Amino acid sequence: MPLPEKALIAGIRGAAKAGKGAVVSGIGDDSAVLKPPPGHEILVTTDFTLEGVHFRREWHSPEVVGRRCLTRGLSDIAAMGGQPLAVFLSLALPGTLPQKWVDRFMKGLLGLAREFKVPLAGGDTAQSPRDILADIVVLGSVPKGTALLRSGAKPGDWIYVTGELGGGSAALKALIAGKKAKPRDFPRHFHPVPRIIVGDVLRRRRLATAMIDLSDGLSTDLTHICEESRVGAEILAADIPRARVGGLRKPVDLKLALHGGEDYELLFTAHPTTPIPNRIAHVPVTVVGHVTRGANVRLKSENGALTKLKPEGWEHFKQRRHSRIP
Ligand SMILES: [Mg+2]
Repeated sequence: MPLPEKALIAGIRGAAKAGKGAVVSGIGDDSAVLKPPPGHEILVTTDFTLEGVHFRREWHSPEVVGRRCLTRGLSDIAAMGGQPLAVFLSLALPGTLPQKWVDRFMKGLLGLAREFKVPLAGGDTAQSPRDILADIVVLGSVPKGTALLRSGAKPGDWIYVTGELGGGSAALKALIAGKKAKPRDFPRHFHPVPRIIVGDVLRRRRLATAMIDLSDGLSTDLTHICEESRVGAEILAADIPRARVGGLRKPVDLKLALHGGEDYELLFTAHPTTPIPNRIAHVPVTVVGHVTRGANVRLKSENGALTKLKPEGWEHFKQRRHSRIP
């Protein structure tokens, strides 16, 4: 049985004694009091992590679930070029859940929070009838008027991605197929690192014209950029950096790199004359195509054929199997 609410909150509070930063007053009052850096605007993002949808207890250790839960929020702050200020966590837990699971979940979540020096400043707990539900809210900030939006891409801009793609969903594919997926063979799935530093560099050096994080899959997230910027895009299949996973470190299928979600890399566009380093903060940066006029998002295959790239990212990817992880 998990501890009663008061004890649970006390446990979280005790575990969350990291640096306070922007938090004037956190857990222990009715609301947290935050002080954003002078001249900054506030970023807010919220993401659910649901048992059976985003994780399964038999596939993911509690530490991994906690880390992935916070990664979702931090990655959204990274996509705006922001710095995280504070994290809020609401948990609904079934009465049968061992307290050990909650402790280990918090260990994974707070471990990542410490890496980015962002305090847990509040949250809520409730009992759920059956499944574990976690809602993470991350507040961040950027200097006024400098947030990187999805709407800034212009025809002629190059399209870049950070890291390698398809590694997040490759682990899920293996697990769904009933295979073993060892954390060290699928680091992007079991130990994701949100690209906060890369996003911050891109914003500070004014390198990117538009940005999004790759949470739903390249095809879907690129389509979001194109819709918001009212442009099209052409992507080169041969240039997409495919993750190497598994014991043999084989590159994933192109389909996973195109449509698999939860890589938490960044996709950004930049003016053709802007020099983009091929590594930022030790993370490889690869050009994968360019922005076009019109609204078509197209893929050029290795033999030169151009086809429409439909947004078949995460949502569809899941629905083709089941609406939930089976
Ligand atoms: Mg996002």
